[in-house]
Amino acid sequence: MSAARPYDYRSDDSPELILFRDTVARFVTDEIEPYYEQWDKQGRVPRELFKKAGEAGLLSADLPVEYGGSGVTVEFAMAVADEFARRGYLALASMFNVSADIVAFYIYNLGSEEQKRSLLPKMAAGELIGAIAMTEPGAGSDLQGIKTTALPVNGGESYAINGSKTFISNGQNCDFVIVATKTDPRAGAKGTTLFIVDAALPGFKRGRNLEKIGQHAADTSELFFDNVIVPASAVLGRVGNGFGHLVDELPRERLCLAVGGVAHARGALEKTVEYVSSRKAFGTTVASFQHTRFELARLKTEVEVHQAFADKCMRLYREKRLDATTAAMAKFAISDMECRVIDTCLQMFGGYGYMAEYPISRYYVDARIQRIYGGTNEIMKEVIARSLVGRA
Ligand SMILES: Cc1cc2nc3c(=O)[nH]c(=O)nc-3n(C[C@H](O)[C@H](O)[C@H](O)COP(=O)(O)OP(=O)(O)OC[C@H]3O[C@@H](n4cnc5c(N)ncnc54)[C@H](O)[C@@H]3O)c2cc1C
Repeated sequence: MSAARPYDYRSDDSPELILFRDTVARFVTDEIEPYYEQWDKQGRVPRELFKKAGEAGLLSADLPVEYGGSGVTVEFAMAVADEFARRGYLALASMFNVSADIVAFYIYNLGSEEQKRSLLPKMAAGELIGAIAMTEPGAGSDLQGIKTTALPVNGGESYAINGSKTFISNGQNCDFVIVATKTDPRAGAKGTTLFIVDAALPGFKRGRNLEKIGQHAADTSELFFDNVIVPASAVLGRVGNGFGHLVDELPRERLCLAVGGVAHARGALEKTVEYVSSRKAFGTTVASFQHTRFELARLKTEVEVHQAFADKCMRLYREKRLDATTAAMAKFAISDMECRVIDTCLQMFGGYGYMAEYPISRYYVDARIQRIYGGTNEIMKEVIARSLVGRA
């Protein structure tokens, strides 16, 4: 009997998906690696990067062809974040995910035909960059507490948007923003409405590009709305149903975070294996100490176990069966694992792990936000608990 071949987490990939992964890998080597340090210092990437990614077919690949996608399965779209994160560019995975995987799919799932046709092909080509603005200075986890209003004017033909948002990814680079507002401030969650707001409209202002501890190349901003007048046709989905729309779209966002998170941990582990295999201490390599070996074994096992769950979630999403609770479990479990694994990896680099010039330090600072954005892990636990014992 022949021995079983070693497990390879990509062994089920189709030949087409393998080719696509090669395209993404080449894109990272040619279009990202040489320039990343500069973008990291500048706090943002040039908009042309989106165009180049669009030309290479890396944006919204699972949208139907008629809307600019390639009509392939979700595994192709997620292969982009996977490769970016594994190679240490989680900031770019986040940035691309927001426009190509989150905003584009809000529009695809909720938009009018006119909205889809005017925005999606240009987004997939990287000519338009989208952002989504839910969080406000006074309301993050508790989104029902948002204060930004969109009140009808001109007999209901238009709405006037007033308020401010913070921590908005792609806030500096975006051409338009999906904004969560209150169209009926007295109606609680039922008064929430989403709008597509063109960033060129009078009254829309970008605030600071916020300084963060990690993911420096991804711009994150405050946004201000001072009587921004939008037509009623800018409503995304149904008036008053914004909260329900947010809940419906969150599983894909959390899937992106899970796929990127497990790849990020895998990449950090690969870098660590390489380092400890050559670093010498006490006349031998760091890899030869039993403590190192057992820790590496534990980390590898953690990565593969979580990969299996991320892959399952991708399959469920493809089959339109990824529910909010399962997506919350993936986001919570994988981002926790990611931070745990990367922390241990950094420890194995000793003092060099704390030096900015060693990529492992970037893995460490970039990972930390994964437990916070996209809904904090405490909120994920609340969502999961509700599915077991109802609301508190
Ligand atoms: C880099 C970055 C990018 C981001 N990108 C975007 C974006 O593109 N668009 C957008 O809208 N937002 C974005 N965010 C915002 C992000 O989603 C919020 O920061 C996050 O949801 C938490 O909200 P908060 O910061 O207001 O924290 P708070 O809600 O004030 O929470 C503070 C603490 O209290 C805990 N907590 C709150 N409620 C509960 C509860 N019921 N039970 C237990 N614990 C609780 C939280 O888990 C947290 O630990 C981004 C944030 C960052 C830092």
